[in-house]
Amino acid sequence: MSTAQYSKEQSEHYEKPMIRKLKSGLMNKFAGASPNQRKVKSEIAGVAVEDLVAKYGSPLFVYSERALRRKFCSMKQAFTTRYPNVTLGWSYKTNYLKSICAILHQEGAIAELVSKMEYDKAKALGVEGKNIILNGPHKPYATLEKAVRDGVTINVDHLDEIEDLEAIATQLGQTISVGIRLNLDAGIQPCWSRFGFNLESGQAMEAVHRIVTGGKLRINGLHSHIGTFIMEPEAYARQVEKMVQLGYEIESLYGWRMDYIDIGGGFPSRSRLKGTYHAAEVLTPAIDDYADAICDALWANLKSGHIPKLILESGRAVVDEAGSLITSVCGTKRLPDGTRAYVIDAGINLLFTSFWYNFDIALGQPVIGECEPSVLYGPMCMNIDVIAESIALPALSRGDRLVVSTVGAYNNTQWLQFIEYRPNVVLITESGDVELIREAEDLSDLERRERLPARLAITSLEPV
Ligand SMILES: *Cc1c(COP(=O)(O)O)cnc(C)c1O
Repeated sequence: MSTAQYSKEQSEHYEKPMIRKLKSGLMNKFAGASPNQRKVKSEIAGVAVEDLVAKYGSPLFVYSERALRRKFCSMKQAFTTRYPNVTLGWSYKTNYLKSICAILHQEGAIAELVSKMEYDKAKALGVEGKNIILNGPHKPYATLEKAVRDGVTINVDHLDEIEDLEAIATQLGQTISVGIRLNLDAGIQPCWSRFGFNLESGQAMEAVHRIVTGGKLRINGLHSHIGTFIMEPEAYARQVEKMVQLGYEIESLYGWRMDYIDIGGGFPSRSRLKGTYHAAEVLTPAIDDYADAICDALWANLKSGHIPKLILESGRAVVDEAGSLITSVCGTKRLPDGTRAYVIDAGINLLFTSFWYNFDIALGQPVIGECEPSVLYGPMCMNIDVIAESIALPALSRGDRLVVSTVGAYNNTQWLQFIEYRPNVVLITESGDVELIREAEDLSDLERRERLPARLAITSLEPV
């Protein structure tokens, strides 16, 4: 038999055989799938993984437009069928690739922004002020002023911001309507207290008095975002109840009726948090459970005839499942304790959320052989660059592909330009076409803003 006839695995290189005990058939930590099988995903949204890599390289982020639109529509439907006055916001920080934002705006989402940079992005994309909510703890004065002029909905985070807004009101000679951000105890841990004004301590009511005393602003909305990846629909019911009650307290004292109740985001996706060993479908409540809890709490607490706008600002739950990452094996090794390890071409630089997620990792092509617990190292020359500490995989070879999902939330915004270039991002349209939505970076992207003083120009160096 000539070398060419050997399979890829056989041809690579000789490896000393090892005997390892495999525990199959018993309860195990490999989340549903037996350790002897790993799911194969040779297509993403109907397009072959190999074709995607051939055209766009590896690693590669891949978004499914259909999955994104469907998810958004099902969330919208869950709420609009239970409550007549609903607005969905899109949390830019979760994924501000232009195409992702544009798709969600086409579906009717307004922009939920938390910084000047995001504000600039939304405006550049053509979003009007009346379709923007400005949140976040850092709103520079000039951004606030622009937001007021643009007619943006602003939720105030702290007292200094109130002062800035009062100065802007004086400057423009107008009363400014604002929402105030609350933090409150909805019975979940951790209880976020760093954003907005605390409700239970009376701080929120003090802020209201402060605004009244200033005489420049008017409160017309309440906002609170109690956390992220919240697995308990009832937490939202407690949040809504507290918000509505505060709203009526403000109304009875000052006559300001709440036009909107903005409950933030925080719905989970089907990803798995580290420390959970079950399949995500088993754990994650359905969006209808959240809609039930939230809308029931509204109906139970609102006065009859008062139908304030319910604003949702979901990020993760909308986009996470629409995103996948194709990565390739670049090297295989055995650790001194016998554990099989792989170096793959995507690490924490691209998958920032790997610090708290156990991703769903599928084979990009069938691979024959018994699975064994393996480690997946990213390409960084950094000890912390580990994508999976113990994942059951058959023996992989260089060039084999893995498909990592669900990665649409927070990775394409928190990815690091660190050690490597950031790769292509493609969108698979509803008709199965592939569109490049972010081109891979090259050196010019990294160095465009750098300046090298002439006196530092390199002349000559000794060879290594
Ligand atoms: C991040 C954020 C969201 C979205 O949160 P998810 O957990 O991704 O749904 C919504 N509102 C505000 C104010 C945020 O900061």
